[in-house]
Amino acid sequence: MTLENNRYTLSGGIDPLDLVAEYDAPLYVYDGDIIERQWNRINDAFTYPKTKFNYACKANTNLNILRLLRGFGAGLDCVSIQEIRLGLLAGFAPQDILYTPNGVSIDELSLAAELGVRINIDNISILEQFGQKYPDIPVCVRINPHILAGGNSKISTGHIDSKFGISFHQVPHVLRVVEATGIRVEGLHMHTGSDILDAEVFVRGAEILMAAAQNFPDLDYMDFGSGFKVPYYPGGNATNIEAVGEKISARFADFCADYGRDLTMVFEPGKFLVSESGFFLVKTNVVKTTLSTVFAGIDSGLNHLIRPMLYDAHHEITNISNPVGRTRIYTVVGYICETDTFGVNRKLTEVHEGDILCLHNAGAYCFSMASNYNSRYRPAEVLVYRGKAHLIRKRETFEDLVRNVREVGIFVEVDISS
Ligand SMILES: *Cc1c(COP(=O)(O)O)cnc(C)c1O
Repeated sequence: MTLENNRYTLSGGIDPLDLVAEYDAPLYVYDGDIIERQWNRINDAFTYPKTKFNYACKANTNLNILRLLRGFGAGLDCVSIQEIRLGLLAGFAPQDILYTPNGVSIDELSLAAELGVRINIDNISILEQFGQKYPDIPVCVRINPHILAGGNSKISTGHIDSKFGISFHQVPHVLRVVEATGIRVEGLHMHTGSDILDAEVFVRGAEILMAAAQNFPDLDYMDFGSGFKVPYYPGGNATNIEAVGEKISARFADFCADYGRDLTMVFEPGKFLVSESGFFLVKTNVVKTTLSTVFAGIDSGLNHLIRPMLYDAHHEITNISNPVGRTRIYTVVGYICETDTFGVNRKLTEVHEGDILCLHNAGAYCFSMASNYNSRYRPAEVLVYRGKAHLIRKRETFEDLVRNVREVGIFVEVDISS
């Protein structure tokens, strides 16, 4: 979002306040031109010719976002059978979908196998069961390289006692299962977590996966996961994607020369592609001054955007109704009956009741984590792309809240008249 002539605009000159006037608040808005910019950036950064990007769709599963990225040439990384179905509905070919679940039963893997998608296995006992059941379906194996990285302990997945992946120390055991079942390992995978800043961390993890690959002669691809960080505030830290791309591309080309074949190099960006495209527009219900604090209370809460409360994520906040007024310090809070603070002591242009605030970086892990807590509706979503705005999800209604509830006639009517 840019500030020009005293007003904020999205790509194509679209005024976010017009979107709120049309679709009401709270409203998720995604700027497709930003997704396209990020797609082009990551594509340009990796110069190795056989590089593929599978969008990690748990970040944002709106079908239109999936279709947009498919149009750019992305594959898909899915973590549940339902995400696979959304991907197929969005038109992805099964072979362009990699299914990377954690802790699911062989039954769900069987369903995925029947849908024809690629399977990533992160548990030796499941590899054994899958190999016995489907010896002719090649699989990818998720290796845990034990690299400690990630923005915080909840999103760090590569460390030694993490539940994700098969330890690279257990590769000999994997090889015994491969031999016993006759299954082919077509890919090796790692994903060390989110928010990795250091290009060296990527390369260190990649080295471990490349070392493990020497034991698997039939590989088609190596998948190095994601964890690419985007800035959360102006001038904030971010992964230097160009540096990572250049380093890994060169290293991978060397590896392939050594391995004897040019494998496909896969990455699974989620946040990198969609985080910055998202703007969550909320209305200020109340401005409340206490003895110590001025609160701006908005028409949203942890039901719509839980990242600040779940893992202390930072979301920039701007008052787009009052772009250039004098500033004051506010603590921005939600309306949920639970402490749901979006930002403490934020400097905002003066906030009046009714003003529209914008929470930035709302494209990844925001709507997709939203709930109906406090029996509130989940917001509508709008996609702005090439100068046009499209409603891509309606706001929920009361019918959505009671859709699956069944009333049973077991309760005693209490007569309170006597
Ligand atoms: C969540 C996830 C990703 C995406 O992580 P980002 O930080 O959003 O890029 C990639 N791969 C796997 C296996 C994941 O679970």
